[in-house]
Amino acid sequence: MIKVLVSSCLVGETVRYDGTAAWCEAQHLAAWQTEARLVRACPEVEAGCPVPRPPAEIEPGATGVEVLAGRARIRDRSGADVTRAFARGARLALERAREAGVRIAILKDCSPSCGSTCIHDGTFCGRIKPGRGVTAALLEQHGIRVFSENQIADAAACLHALDEERTHANVADSVWDHRLVEG
Ligand code: SF4
Repeated sequence: MIKVLVSSCLVGETVRYDGTAAWCEAQHLAAWQTEARLVRACPEVEAGCPVPRPPAEIEPGATGVEVLAGRARIRDRSGADVTRAFARGARLALERAREAGVRIAILKDCSPSCGSTCIHDGTFCGRIKPGRGVTAALLEQHGIRVFSENQIADAAACLHALDEERTHANVADSVWDHRLVEG
């Protein structure tokens, strides 16, 4: 079964910087949970960040792609550099995704880790801009399709296509095996 990585906060875990969750009520998520397709991850907490923790943003002018390339940092509101922990969280999420056979991720948008369509602009003024967080960028770089909680219908269509592809591949394999046996 093709698995779906999901931000822990979207499925009710109170792991956000302010100690809250970001419940996403989408029916697809509930169905995937019932099918045991969901693989949860909170990159920041799994990298050792506490709950609550100060909000953090990627430096102005950069996105998760630049952070992964070593060209930008992530800082919390006090100015402390939290890049190392956030990058570690991204690597842990990728490891978990690979071990579980994840092909799709649903991640909480706007986060410096999980943002997939937008992130905060690095000024701590509440402004957002297009871009990916470090975990979303790393997953995409390794072939995992990343969607936000606002794109779950697109994710469901993508998952359906991947399931169909896998079913056809399995049918083709069994026809081939049958021919080999028949000689
Ligand atoms: Fe949610 Fe991701 Fe932030 Fe964890 S790191 S609280 S999963 S948005």
